[in-house]
Amino acid sequence: MTTFDAAIVGGGIVGAACADSLSAAGLSVCVIEASGVGSGTTAAGMGHIVVMDDSEAQFALTRYSQQLWHELVTELPTNAEFEICGTIWIATDSVEMSEVKRKQESYSEHGVESEILDESSLRTAEPNLREGLAGGLLVRSDSVVYQPVAARFLIDRAKRRGADVIVGKRVIEINGTGVKLADGEFIEAKNVVNAAGSAASDLSPGLKIVKRKGHLVITERYPNFARHQLVELGYLKSAHGKSADSVAFNVQPRSTGQVLLGSSRQFGAEDGEIDYAILRRMTSRAFEYMPLLRKLSAVRVWTGFRPATPDNLPYIGKMPAQDGIYVAAGHEGLGITTSLGTARLIADEILGRDSAISREPYSPGRDLIEH
Ligand SMILES: Cc1cc2nc3c(=O)[nH]c(=O)nc-3n(C[C@H](O)[C@H](O)[C@H](O)COP(=O)(O)OP(=O)(O)OC[C@H]3O[C@@H](n4cnc5c(N)ncnc54)[C@H](O)[C@@H]3O)c2cc1C
Repeated sequence: MTTFDAAIVGGGIVGAACADSLSAAGLSVCVIEASGVGSGTTAAGMGHIVVMDDSEAQFALTRYSQQLWHELVTELPTNAEFEICGTIWIATDSVEMSEVKRKQESYSEHGVESEILDESSLRTAEPNLREGLAGGLLVRSDSVVYQPVAARFLIDRAKRRGADVIVGKRVIEINGTGVKLADGEFIEAKNVVNAAGSAASDLSPGLKIVKRKGHLVITERYPNFARHQLVELGYLKSAHGKSADSVAFNVQPRSTGQVLLGSSRQFGAEDGEIDYAILRRMTSRAFEYMPLLRKLSAVRVWTGFRPATPDNLPYIGKMPAQDGIYVAAGHEGLGITTSLGTARLIADEILGRDSAISREPYSPGRDLIEH
């Protein structure tokens, strides 16, 4: 029987990136995906690759990962729709403009260029925003990607290096010698990476990952309706608040001309049904910023579950006291962005290499901060 250097549970963007990084380092890899590559939360996300400054650790991982995406650009297929469209963080009033200034200083201290837009330059940049908004912060280096294709690309690249990818089989148990499948088969591996997204705690019960439901709406094609990813400054309050339900204005221009509209967050919502009350709150919030959005035709609405942790940072690294077991899960609303950095950190730890950024803040063994 083959003993793989690494078995990866989950073929979402994170598992796919791990397969790519580990196979690139010359390890023999087996990915086990219960459903389809990129079909879990990855398929449900927005694909905004964004540097976020909520904490030093979040900044370091998003920035590092963004640089890795930029290195990948020339290799991604065109249908991965990678575009450096930039993000504009939108301020509604003078209080939020002070936050724009603080944010710009923080980005600048970390080497990320950004520009403050006043009311009129914001309107010039995005004519469909309503009049009277105070301004915003333009971060030109942020981008968007069509993440299911990116996940498939990473998996295919790993396969070309010899990786095995088993689709349609569920892992029911992991240990330091490999993974057990639901059909009784055991796959031997020297290292196991739990990249099962919002289901990661089922296999590693110590992890505190919970599902955080989100809705997205996509419209028909309206080229140039929006030109940048547009996010209200209050987004972080929604993303990192602990309230059961929240919404924030978040609009993404797709290269097809479609407009992708988010976002909502709900704890404790376990079914994937569309919740029309929160959907209405979400679209109403968007219309406050972009009134003409209400004239566009929506073609589809869907939901997905972000894998959330108590301190808003993913679990990346070795499970304490469990030799050979690693976790790469719990990326909440940033897993597309941070997948590539995550995979490098996992490969570094397995291979005993130094990492470009400190791995310590993401260690699954960290003391989780209770808010
Ligand atoms: C509405 C919404 C908007 C988002 N927008 C963005 C964004 O703009 N930018 C961004 O960076 N992130 C965004 N995200 C977050 C991002 O989509 C996730 O963080 C990311 O997809 C997580 O990837 P993953 O590989 O960890 O999980 P998944 O994609 O869920 O992959 C895990 C895989 O593991 C498989 N699996 C689970 N259990 C088992 C098992 N026992 N055996 C075998 N296989 C198993 C599943 O089938 C699944 O395919 C958004 C998420 C949502 C819901």
